[in-house]
Amino acid sequence: MTLSNSRQQFLAYESQTPDDIHYGRKGGIFVSNCICATFIIFAIVIAVIVGVIVHFVTYFKVAQKTVDFWDETEPFGQSSGPSPDLRLPTDVVPSFYRLKLKTDLDNSTFSGDVFITIRANRGVRDIILHAKNLSINSNAKLTEQIYEKVETLRSTKVKRDVADANVTETSQNVTTDVTPMSVNDTNVTTTDSTVVSTDSNVTQATTTTQTVSKPVDTEITHSAVRSIRILSIMKGTGDRIILVLESPLKTNIDYILQLSFEGVISNSLTGFYKSTYTNSQGEVRNLGVTQFEPTSARSAFPCFDEPAFKAKFEISIAHPQTITALSNMKTVAQEPIPEMPGWQWTHFDRSVSMSTYLVAYVLSDFKSLETSYTSKDNVTIPIKVWTRPELISKANYAINITPKLLSYYEDVFGLPYELDKMDLIAIPDFSSGAMENWGLVTFRETTLLFDETQNVPRDKQNVAIDIAHELAHQWFGNLVTMRWWTDLWLNEGFATYIEYVGVDKIEPGWDMFESFSRDKMDLLRSDALKNTSPVSRKVVDASEISQKFDEISYTKGANLIRMLNHTISEEMFHKGLVIYLNDWKYSNAEETDLWQSMSKATQSDPSLRDLSVVDFMNTWTKQAGYPVVNVNRNYKTGSVEIEQRLFTTAKDPYQKMIDQLWHIPISYTAVDAPVSQWSTKPQSWLKGRFTIVDIPINSTQALYVNVGAIGYYRVNYDQTNWQLLSEALKSGQVKSPITKSQLIDDAFNLAKVGQLNYSYALGLTTCVINGESSKMVWDQLLNNMAFLRHNLRWTSGYLYFQDYMKIILAEQLKQVNYGLDKPKDDNDAFLIENLVMWECYVESPRCLSWAKEQFDNWTKQEDFNNNPIPSYLRSLVYNTALRQGGRKEFEFLWNVFLNSTDPTVKSLIINNLPSSREGAIITTLLEKSLSEIPKQYAVAAWTVEPPVGTRLAQDFLIKNFDQVYAKFTDMDAFMFPAVVSGAFGFITTEEELSRLKSFALKNKEKLKPMSQTLQKLVDTATFRIDWIQKNAAPINQWFKDYVTGKLPSPSSSTLPTLDAVPDVSTNSTSDVTTTVPDTTAIPTAADNTTSV
Ligand SMILES: [Zn+2]
Repeated sequence: MTLSNSRQQFLAYESQTPDDIHYGRKGGIFVSNCICATFIIFAIVIAVIVGVIVHFVTYFKVAQKTVDFWDETEPFGQSSGPSPDLRLPTDVVPSFYRLKLKTDLDNSTFSGDVFITIRANRGVRDIILHAKNLSINSNAKLTEQIYEKVETLRSTKVKRDVADANVTETSQNVTTDVTPMSVNDTNVTTTDSTVVSTDSNVTQATTTTQTVSKPVDTEITHSAVRSIRILSIMKGTGDRIILVLESPLKTNIDYILQLSFEGVISNSLTGFYKSTYTNSQGEVRNLGVTQFEPTSARSAFPCFDEPAFKAKFEISIAHPQTITALSNMKTVAQEPIPEMPGWQWTHFDRSVSMSTYLVAYVLSDFKSLETSYTSKDNVTIPIKVWTRPELISKANYAINITPKLLSYYEDVFGLPYELDKMDLIAIPDFSSGAMENWGLVTFRETTLLFDETQNVPRDKQNVAIDIAHELAHQWFGNLVTMRWWTDLWLNEGFATYIEYVGVDKIEPGWDMFESFSRDKMDLLRSDALKNTSPVSRKVVDASEISQKFDEISYTKGANLIRMLNHTISEEMFHKGLVIYLNDWKYSNAEETDLWQSMSKATQSDPSLRDLSVVDFMNTWTKQAGYPVVNVNRNYKTGSVEIEQRLFTTAKDPYQKMIDQLWHIPISYTAVDAPVSQWSTKPQSWLKGRFTIVDIPINSTQALYVNVGAIGYYRVNYDQTNWQLLSEALKSGQVKSPITKSQLIDDAFNLAKVGQLNYSYALGLTTCVINGESSKMVWDQLLNNMAFLRHNLRWTSGYLYFQDYMKIILAEQLKQVNYGLDKPKDDNDAFLIENLVMWECYVESPRCLSWAKEQFDNWTKQEDFNNNPIPSYLRSLVYNTALRQGGRKEFEFLWNVFLNSTDPTVKSLIINNLPSSREGAIITTLLEKSLSEIPKQYAVAAWTVEPPVGTRLAQDFLIKNFDQVYAKFTDMDAFMFPAVVSGAFGFITTEEELSRLKSFALKNKEKLKPMSQTLQKLVDTATFRIDWIQKNAAPINQWFKDYVTGKLPSPSSSTLPTLDAVPDVSTNSTSDVTTTVPDTTAIPTAADNTTSV
């Protein structure tokens, strides 16, 4: 699954200004006030968080905190034992589902029969499985299947019989060799139902067309059945149903459990739900769509809804003939339903063994474009991209890149794509970015469809990224699946890494690994919060799962995997990956299994024999946060002291985290060495607190550590080396955009926590004063300035900040002619958009009048579809028009939002509407989020700006809590945390912080599932308030001195000094030791261990 645009925008929200354009990885261009934090831990932390809230509200000081709720040694509740109640027992294991559904979109209902082949590995007397919001009929049946060996004509599929063979290799105690036969038997034995018997015939007919006969063989076949009485069906906790049997199940015997059920096609965005759109004739059309990840398959049919219970599925759907039904597998037959004129059954082929969360079906009147590719094992795979008919012309890009990606991934993963078709479908109402259902990938319209006539590079990139991500899951996630949600990061981190690899392959001009590094730097900011969590964190029950879909799982996971790749080499990494996929295909694995496969690969490389991949990676995946590596050079001897410490923005970090040590691969180079000689491979290791390395570089050369920003850590240097790096940066000696960005980002963030004087960080920003053409350097520089912009905004010094920004933007704006010329390529378009947006932010008269003129030109058109604004600059024009304007601008855009049928137009507008500064408009928008704004856009209305917007959103939320809560939690588990973050994500005053705390306390019962979001909001606010108090005045002074000419000119080789800013490193209350400015400050405490 990919996160939705809004959901990704929590990225580093502690450092972004809300009105900043943020270039989300998978979203359209959006305004980052759409702060929709979703990372929350559920139940285990509940008591803990409530404790914190209680403690805050009752004004206890942190040091005096009671231990009633909060266990300092276990901030993430990692030591809590699993609740015995909520996971399914593993005594009974499914191997096959025959699922027959009748769907009635007009009446929003469905009914179904499911026949589940199960086996018991213990003589249990009850069967426990999942069902949610379904009525289960009392006519449930359980039959024991009795087999005997007879001679038979063995039927084998023409294609991919390998898939069936592999199933027997699974680690589950499921022997599936007889289930293929039992399937047809299921139908034969249930002849009491006419529907089923009809179906049975069809299945047989189908089998004939799909199979070839092989020589006579001895085969186990079905002989008889015996009914087992079900005494009762009870509803258990945690969406479970318990069937109590008259007699215990025998082990290693197939049973078939038959359940009939009914349900409602929901109005939410999970389970089996209804989506709608208005066609070109103005008629409202309905679709039936599924979104099962993580735990909603159980609301569509009774099942064992945990990822390790893999099984094969054979699905049939009854539906009106005017509608197309799609599912994971190919359609193998269709037949009219005599008793229901105008209706038909669509029967889908039997699936490979897969997890319930990957099952999917969609009913629609959509059209498709079609292509195909030939897989590694020489099978022609048809590919279709489906959309509502009006948007079919926008499916070209997707249909063009999908075969290229699939074909490339077959090489990357060393295995063919396993199914015999691939459908991609754009759903009008969709919560996340996209979902990787095996063979039927579902998308938001804006993440699958690209309008070539508008040709907005960002839209195109988002489509490429989302497709690349979901297709990577077809192997990593679908073929090999995490055993339990604790290892969700394996699925998501890997798919996230491979999405960049895939897009880089098909669109090399986009420099995707620069984007990767930029996204990593953004994440490093939020991963430094006090209550950040490890990528691998225990999930005890289902209520916690949705909170795992956060940037820690996605982006940090991807970074750790990439760090491993560069540490062991591309060749070994690829080898290990192929071993892993082959060893675990059709099965479930844990992170240790991946590390073991990598170890198997690295054994062939003598230079890696001493490396324990498991030990190395455990320090990164099982510990929260990340380190800063302090580098102190001895310029006489050439020896370099290297030390690691937790990097955190917390004044009072947890002792447990302070004590953490990571196995850190250290790569380094002289920064003036030719880039061709730079290597990201570690030349040294830091495993203890401290080590000394001899680095043979000249004392006048700058040392650069963590080459290419591959390692997941920050680097701080001694003062002299910072000076050398700064000179190299400003003289143009540093060419790599990643290195430039990394130095700026590290300097700013070290300064933020008092480990580096701010004058260094601010001084580095002058490196762009004579022009800088890299979009990545500007992205990082402006992201860091955005933190200052937001925090200084209400101080008198903000005017000097604006003037300073005008100075550093001026030259490059001139070089791109203020965006008035057509961009020379996509990267140029990304850069211009960011620069011009900032030009408007700092209220340059040119920018404001240009934006106004652009907007006015549009409003004068008779048809709003005639939009003369250059497409790639529309977001910033809308944003500026709303910010500077009033009701007229709002009403015009609102009208376009309501009347446009183009999803790209709608989402661009709704993402910008909350940037209005008018109270009445903001409140109107918040009210509309509860009524007329369509489901998937509603949360965007809450991405308001501080202080007016956030203040109003807080008022509105507090006053209408029950209504807002009901509206957003009904949609899915991700929306409501985003709403709360929109209102409370940009707190800069103590008064607002207490407001947040009392809000949280008052509604604690309902807010329990988003306890981690609340905790991070409190961490962010606490840090921000403290920062403003400490830094606002001296930094304002620095800007004032600079713009009034009191600081040395930017071309000077010396750093501007910042006398007025106290060197907080020397009086920091943080436990983190600094290395600046005195090189002798390296601690040599007894606990420091040396290791290389
Ligand atoms: Zn995913």
